[in-house]
Amino acid sequence: MSVSSKNASGPESSPRGAGNDWTRRDFLRAGSAVGTAAMAAGAAGAGAARSPAAPEIRKRVELGRTGVEIPDISFGSFSLEADADERVVHHALDRGVTHFDTAEGYTEGRAEKILGRALAGRRDQVTLTTKFWAEPEHSAEYQMKMLEQSLRHLRTDYVDVYMNHAVNEVARLGEEWQAFAARAKEQGKIRAIGMSGHAPRLAQCMEYALDHQLVDAFLVAYSFAQQPSFKESVKAYLSDWLPSLDIVASQARLPELIGRAHAEGVGVMVMKTLKGARLNDMRPYERPGRTFSQAAFRWVLADPSVDGLVVTMTSEAQIDEYLEASGAEAPDREDLALLARYLAKNAGSSCLIGCGDCMSSCPAGVSIPDVMRMRMYDRDYGKPAIARSEYARLDADASACLGCSGAPCAGACPSGLEIAPLLRDTHRRLA
Ligand code: SF4
Ligand code: SF4
Repeated sequence: MSVSSKNASGPESSPRGAGNDWTRRDFLRAGSAVGTAAMAAGAAGAGAARSPAAPEIRKRVELGRTGVEIPDISFGSFSLEADADERVVHHALDRGVTHFDTAEGYTEGRAEKILGRALAGRRDQVTLTTKFWAEPEHSAEYQMKMLEQSLRHLRTDYVDVYMNHAVNEVARLGEEWQAFAARAKEQGKIRAIGMSGHAPRLAQCMEYALDHQLVDAFLVAYSFAQQPSFKESVKAYLSDWLPSLDIVASQARLPELIGRAHAEGVGVMVMKTLKGARLNDMRPYERPGRTFSQAAFRWVLADPSVDGLVVTMTSEAQIDEYLEASGAEAPDREDLALLARYLAKNAGSSCLIGCGDCMSSCPAGVSIPDVMRMRMYDRDYGKPAIARSEYARLDADASACLGCSGAPCAGACPSGLEIAPLLRDTHRRLA
């Protein structure tokens, strides 16, 4: 199936029968059913209640044509900070999660080390992705040293996928990186070469990588909220009672490029599928087996061009909640109601991160989407230490905002975010 046919997998064409007879009355009924069930479930947190069978990975696929096997839901190690976090890794393993994603920079190197310790003796049961932020001025030799450091941290002599981390400039995919990647693959230190990305020029970088056949796999930010057809479909049903529903398509070319990658045998893993992960906002509308995160995962995993998703896992209960979406069918109308409600609740207060429509508005060159992303790590993920560490790595933080009137960026965000006060607050919290 082509990605364009998947693009129509909103209410009008869901393979599970939420088809073109899905009326506004149906939608309201679905939304009402969610609310009623949530009240019945009580306030204990819908994700915590479980069906009798322990959730586990139910689907595995080959990542593109890499030969690397991944489950449809992989472990993101962004939050691994302390030795005690090894138990979370072990719980994921016990539930059948066999692909672990990390990066040299996560928690200032601690994530790789914790993962290495937790997986010691079980390397043959898992596949690994790690990443390094290769800049154009980094020599191939330097990049090889950074890979070897990651291998030591991970206690292995190879990684399955090695990615250039958070690429937002094609210059970062230049000759030194290409020479390094080819040599490392030849030496058996990496099986597949990849790039990750979640910033405004992601589509441009993906297209460059595909045009020049530079990668075997991608890891990109992708969620229901980046799908124009989804939002337009939902808006038609809800516009009279949720007039603020955000319909801005961010990264409009992403579905097309993901489809192209898949057609060309390049693996596609996706992240940030929860669009900010403001899960607590959604608990009153959820019920067991029907949480916002599960609906969001079902949506993205139903895309035939997506091989699997990576999500940060921080607790056993969270893992169990997430894995209920493994191997699931496409989202139905109740899922869609949850996703739409999430969009409606967060419209006007949540940055789309990758859209970048505000990029040219700041004369001081502040990287507004990056600062907004750090704000998300701090406020929505509840990870201030990680947010501060990532914020410190930004080339253009929000320090300039403290002495600025805010006039140049006022009105630059089509989602209606008040950029200046948000960035000033973020700088004060994270600088
Ligand atoms: S407040 Fe001023 S410095 Fe900050 S992003 Fe807006 S225009 Fe740029
Ligand atoms: S602040 Fe607004 S315009 Fe800028 S990236 Fe976020 S959603 Fe897009």
